[in-house]
Amino acid sequence: TIEHTRTDSDLPARALRAIPGGVNSGQRRVSGLEQTIVTATDGATFTDGEGRTYVDFHSAFGPPLLGHNDPDVDRAVAETSKRLDLMGVAVTPVEVELAEEVIDAIPSVEQVILTSTGSEATFHALRLARAVTGRRHVIKFQGCYHGWHDAVSTNIISAADKLGQKDPVSDGILPEVLDATIVCQFNDLASVEAALEQHDVAAIIVEPIPHNIGAVLPRPGFHAGLRELATRHGALLVFDEVITGFRHAVGGWQTIEQITPDLTTLGKAMANGYPVAALGGRADLLGELSSNPGGRVFFAGTYNGHPAMAAAALATIRKLRSEPVHEHVFALGKRIRSELTALYARLGVPVVVSGYGSVFVTYFQDGPVDHYGDLLRNDAELFVGYRQELLREGVFELPLNLKRSCVSYAHTDAHVDRLLTATEAAVTRAL
Ligand code: PLP
Repeated sequence: TIEHTRTDSDLPARALRAIPGGVNSGQRRVSGLEQTIVTATDGATFTDGEGRTYVDFHSAFGPPLLGHNDPDVDRAVAETSKRLDLMGVAVTPVEVELAEEVIDAIPSVEQVILTSTGSEATFHALRLARAVTGRRHVIKFQGCYHGWHDAVSTNIISAADKLGQKDPVSDGILPEVLDATIVCQFNDLASVEAALEQHDVAAIIVEPIPHNIGAVLPRPGFHAGLRELATRHGALLVFDEVITGFRHAVGGWQTIEQITPDLTTLGKAMANGYPVAALGGRADLLGELSSNPGGRVFFAGTYNGHPAMAAAALATIRKLRSEPVHEHVFALGKRIRSELTALYARLGVPVVVSGYGSVFVTYFQDGPVDHYGDLLRNDAELFVGYRQELLREGVFELPLNLKRSCVSYAHTDAHVDRLLTATEAAVTRAL
C-alpha cells in the first residue's frame, strides 16, 4: 500500500500543512469541500474518503467526456507506457498519428502542435499572432477564461463595479502586459469593431461558448461577424476550443457554425483527462514556430507530445469518432435541460436553464443572457447554496458561482433521474 491510498481522517489537515490551501489549484478551493478527499473515480461517479459515492456532474471542469477511467483510453496509456517513454528528441509514431487525426477532424487545422495544458496552447497562440502580425494588442471577452498566463488573466468573473475597466485576476501581472489586452463584450460586434479601429490588434481570442461562466450562447452571426472583422482589420481569429473542442463536436464549435478561425486551441476532452492540449491552424502560421527550421517563434516544452499522453488523445478521439458518444451525451443533456426547466416552473422559481449538448447550467435570474453583464442578475447565493445541498444528496455539481455542469458517455438515464430528484430536494432546502 502506498501512502496516497491512505484515507486517514487527518488527511485534510496534512494537505493543509503540505500544500498551500490544501489543493493544487486556486479553482479547487471550494466552500463546502474543504474536508473532502477523493479516493476513487469510476465512470460517472467518485468516492470520498468516508466511502461515500457521488454522481459526478462536474467532470473535472470537462475533460472526461467518456467518463472517468475509460478502459479504452487507459489501456492505450498502459500499453504505450510499457514500450515507449519520453525521449525529448525526434518524434514517435503516436504523435504523428495523433496530429493526422486532429487535422482530419478539424477542417481549419492544417498543422497541429502539442502542449500539455490549454494555458500553454493559448499562450503560444497569442505569441505567434503577435509575431506574425507585428502587432501588440489582443482582444478578449469579459467572462472568457483562457488559462493562467498574464495576457489573458483579466476580466473573468468581475464584480459589477469592475465592469468596463481592467480587472486582473492576480497581483504580480505587469501592467504593460495588461495594457495590451483589450476587453470586449461577448455578442457585441460593435465593441469589437471599435477596439479594432482604435488599436493595432494581433488577435481576437474567444471561447466560442463562454463556458467558464456557464453557457452564454453566441447570437446567430456573432462568430461570423468576428471572422469578418478580424479579416478586414488584419487580426487573427483564435478560437479557444479547450472546452468546446471534441465535446460539442469532434470538429469543434467551428464545424457547427462553419467558421474558419486562423488558430485553434484544444485540450480537456481531447484526451479524456490526461494532460494533452494542442495549438492548430493555418500551416503558414504554425510554420513560424521554432520547431520548423527558420521558425522565428520560440516553442518548447519537455512533456509536449509525451507518447503515453498522445496515445490517450488518439484513443479518445478515435472512440469519439467510432461510438455514438455525442448522440448519447446530447440526448442526456437535452433531457436534463428540459426537465430542469419544467421543475423550476413547477417550483415557481424564475431561472434561465442554458447549455449546449452535454453541458447544462441553471442561472437564477431572468433572461436574456447574452454576455457576462447579464449574469450579474444571477442569485449567486442560491446558485452555490443548492449545489452545496446537492452534495448531501450524493450528487456533485461544483458549488462555485456560474460554473457549468456536464454529462459524460458513462452517465445514464438513471444518473439523470438522480440528478433531477436531488435537485428538487436541494433547491427546496436552499430557497
Ligand atoms: N481555455 C479554456 C477555454 C479553458 O476553459 C481553460 C481551462 O479551464 C484553459 C484555456 C486553460 O487550460 P489549462 O487549465 O489546461 O491550462
